[in-house]
Amino acid sequence: MIKDIIKEISNEISDLKKQGLYKSERTMSTPQSDLISTKSNVDVLNLCANNYLGFSSNKTIIKNAIGALEKWGYGLSSVRFICGTQAIHKELEHKLSDFLRFENAIIYSSAFDANGGLFEPLLNENDAIISDELNHASIIDGIRLCKAKRYRYKNNNMEDLETKLQQALGARRILIATDGVFSMDGIIANLKGICDLANKYNALVMVDDSHATGVIGKSGRGSIEYCGVIGRVDILTGTFGKSLGGASGGFTVANNEIIELLRQKSRPYLFSNSLAPMIASTSISIIKILDKQSTLIEKLEENTLYFRKKLMELKFDIIPSTHPIVPIMLYDAQLAAEFAEKLLDHGVYVISFCFPVVPKEKARIRVQLSSAHSIEQLNKALIAFEMVGRELKVIL
Ligand SMILES: *Cc1c(COP(=O)(O)O)cnc(C)c1O
Repeated sequence: MIKDIIKEISNEISDLKKQGLYKSERTMSTPQSDLISTKSNVDVLNLCANNYLGFSSNKTIIKNAIGALEKWGYGLSSVRFICGTQAIHKELEHKLSDFLRFENAIIYSSAFDANGGLFEPLLNENDAIISDELNHASIIDGIRLCKAKRYRYKNNNMEDLETKLQQALGARRILIATDGVFSMDGIIANLKGICDLANKYNALVMVDDSHATGVIGKSGRGSIEYCGVIGRVDILTGTFGKSLGGASGGFTVANNEIIELLRQKSRPYLFSNSLAPMIASTSISIIKILDKQSTLIEKLEENTLYFRKKLMELKFDIIPSTHPIVPIMLYDAQLAAEFAEKLLDHGVYVISFCFPVVPKEKARIRVQLSSAHSIEQLNKALIAFEMVGRELKVIL
């Protein structure tokens, strides 16, 4: 019996490989940084991490982490409500909600858990959720775990959202859920439009700002700052696993009552271990840095605008935005994979994405910029893009 099952699983894996859907992992021998090494590639320029502000290997942050290890210990070995809350967790929740201008915050082991545990406590079969079609997998899964009626609107399309709002009328509660930034396209959600519609139809707004907090907005407060809707969004989720340090952890910020209910009922919070105190401590210090000065955010924006402008001058087909996620459209999956391979030969590490991660015929290379990149490094990458682009006849 078990042999038959293993045979089936093995066939399934072979099918993935045949369809080009099999994902392999490169093993790094260095910390996450602007330059990384693997066994076969030494000191390659890294353009595909979520290390937007370079905190993953920042010396000050590492020092803070060592201090926190000594002061608070290694781990909590407990969920929050039994024996897993330290002063440092409460301090992080205060700092975070203050920074993002919400009343309160709750910390999870990941943003995946924050989204997984958000909808079910707040909504039941009398309610409705209207979700953007390009929302992150964790929002989709979180919605699946709750009994509310589901509607899906076309990506960032306000007309379609309004149609779905009208269809949902009569529900006890209506909640609109969107990513603040769509991670495959680098497009920033139209939060102004969404909040206006939410007002009109008396709906709640939930935004997942995992690719936006500490990335966009003049002071790094994310899509809510970028779109000028601070105070108008009801619930915001995010991660400590990207711009805010890159270790792990996630959060939800909202008003006191919503957060209080989540502490009582959100299953990934109740039944999963506390965030390591070291990460709570480093996250606090990162928020303090962002609160005090916007130098890193400004550098990230400068790099983003520079790289986007140069790629456009070279006549690459990129999706317009101002976000450090820069999708270079190649359309053909084979071509995108070959392009990425050749860039690696030039010492530039990027990843190509094809179906099912992006729609068929929409294969691309996704670059992610960081404030840790120097202009010299970006120029090196641009020269490689130009050479490979000409070689593969993507540009003339
Ligand atoms: C990365 C990401 C997540 C998951 O974050 P983790 O903390 O790594 O679980 C959730 N939502 C969005 C939009 C993301 O980009």
